Amino acid sequence: MELVANVMHRYVMHGSMWNFHEDHHQKDIGFFEKNDVFFVIFALPSMLLIMGGFFFSNLYAYALGLGITIYGLCYFLVHDVYIHRRFKFLDNFSHPYLDGLRRAHKDHHSHIYKEDGENFGMLWVPLKYYSKQFKDSVSCAI
Ligand SMILES: [Zn+2]
Ligand SMILES: [Zn+2]
Repeated sequence: MELVANVMHRYVMHGSMWNFHEDHHQKDIGFFEKNDVFFVIFALPSMLLIMGGFFFSNLYAYALGLGITIYGLCYFLVHDVYIHRRFKFLDNFSHPYLDGLRRAHKDHHSHIYKEDGENFGMLWVPLKYYSKQFKDSVSCAI
């Protein structure tokens, strides 16, 4: 799923669906963003796969739907709660991996145009972001 999410973010959200993703790269949009439509877009195939897998006894479809749902839950907790602090219940949580993950995503947000970009994935963190030197060097729009 991390690979799928990376490719979708790089080529779809920063591609043909940039209109929905653009406000996620801007400051002070408010609580809701047009970018939130992606929760619905990714929920649809997972719901259909889970229901289809259940009703037609297809374990592969069921597992695929469940995998997308679990990744979506991780995405919500990591991206929306931990990184962007839309909800405040993970604010005091620190770990070298999670700190690196936050730095990498903030670097993604330092680019505000469709064409620019790096770190399109969420859970894969390049090694350089584990370095303490990176801590305060990232300028970003979030
Ligand atoms: Zn983006
Ligand atoms: Zn973000």
